[in-house]
Formats: sequence, C-alpha cells, structure tokens
Amino acid sequence: MTIKSSNKKIHSLAKRKEKAAAVALVLEQLYPDAECALESGDDPWKLLVMARLSAQCTDKRVNEIAPFLFAKYPTVWDMAEADLGELEKAIQSCGLFRTKAKSLKESSQQLVQNYDGKVPDTMEDLLSLSGVGRKIANLLLGDIFHKPGIVADTHCIRIAARLGLTYPQCTDPLHTETLLCESVEESIRADFCHRIVHFGRDTCRAQNPQCATCPMASLCEWKKTPKK
Ligand code: SF4
Repeated sequence: MTIKSSNKKIHSLAKRKEKAAAVALVLEQLYPDAECALESGDDPWKLLVMARLSAQCTDKRVNEIAPFLFAKYPTVWDMAEADLGELEKAIQSCGLFRTKAKSLKESSQQLVQNYDGKVPDTMEDLLSLSGVGRKIANLLLGDIFHKPGIVADTHCIRIAARLGLTYPQCTDPLHTETLLCESVEESIRADFCHRIVHFGRDTCRAQNPQCATCPMASLCEWKKTPKK
C-alpha cells in the first residue's frame, strides 16, 4: 500500500508544495547560514564516520572525539585494519560503541575492497555499506555530492508532521522523506534539512515547543489542534 492509498490525512500536493515553500522561506530567514553540525571538513569518509557515531549521541560529543579518532585512524585504510577493541575504546563515549565500532570497521573494509577507498555517490552503493541507512546516505548525497536528498531525522519527522507537510502523528522516516521529496524543491533540500534541525532545537522541541513565540505558528497545524 502506498502512503497516499492508505487512509492518512495528507494534503494535496499543490497545498504541500505551497506550504513547503512558505516554511522554507521562514527557515531561511531564521537560519541563513545553517550547515551540518558535524565538523567533518567536508571529507566524505569523515562525515560518514561522524554521522554513524551521531546515532543516539549528540553532534557536540561527536565533534569532541573526532579529532582524537582521526588522529588514531587518519584514513579509511587505517580504520579498515583497526583492532576492534581499540576502536571500541576510541569511540566509547558516543554510546552503542560495540555496534558502531563493528560497522565502522566493516564499512571501511567495504570501501577499501569495493570502492578503492572512496565513498560512493549513489543511494544504492551507500546503502550497501555496513551501518549506513537512508539518513546517513541522504546526508552524504546532499552535503558532499550535491544531490537532492531529505535527511529525515527526528527533528525533521516531528516538525514536518506538525506543520502538515506529512500527516498527523507521522513518525515514519521513509514516509517523511518521500512526502518532503515531493514538496520541497530539489535545490534547497540540503539547506532545508539543516535549518529544520536548528529550528527543532531552538523552538519546535519535542517536549515543550515554544508555540507562543514561534515564527512558524501561522503555518502550523499541530498548534491549532494540539494533542493531549
Ligand atoms: Fe512547532 Fe509550536 Fe511552532 Fe507549531 S507553533 S511549528 S508546534 S513550535
């Protein structure tokens, strides 16, 4: 069943496009210079590693450990040959360190064996890497390869639903990505996603959103029909 043939309350495409354009405008005014919070220096492999580490961890913590991690493993070849126990120790403070270390080593080995040590630039190839899901793949596609992608992270999913860009109570990353790809112009998708993360941290928080002072209030449907 497609999203639209389900009984989800989704606005018409015309309405979603109109709303997405209005939301994008407000986000641009609020955060004209927003960019990825992970300080990878636009190095594709470092961004891949840092994005993997950021699962259930703050970007701040990942940025703190990254210099030490990349001093120990400066290249993908170094990480591919890493001692697993030492790699675990190096990323321990990021949480889920055993799973993350295993997938980082595996994905580094895959990059070396299958891609000559380079991060590939297609969704299909990125998804073939251990520990890489659509969120990381879309981040890399947008930020590094300048291909249109929607990074459906927790902020994006929550805010898109509240604003009526997806549907009420939508918590599905793929639904969010699919519906936003229909309504958000390709050329602004990467910026849109970075800006919505800032907006989610500053104003439209999961708990205690700042609706009374929100610059997006006139566009918001959740505020008009708040859930208990
Ligand atoms: Fe979020 Fe409230 Fe603003 Fe709606 S009005 S976008 S729920 S902060």
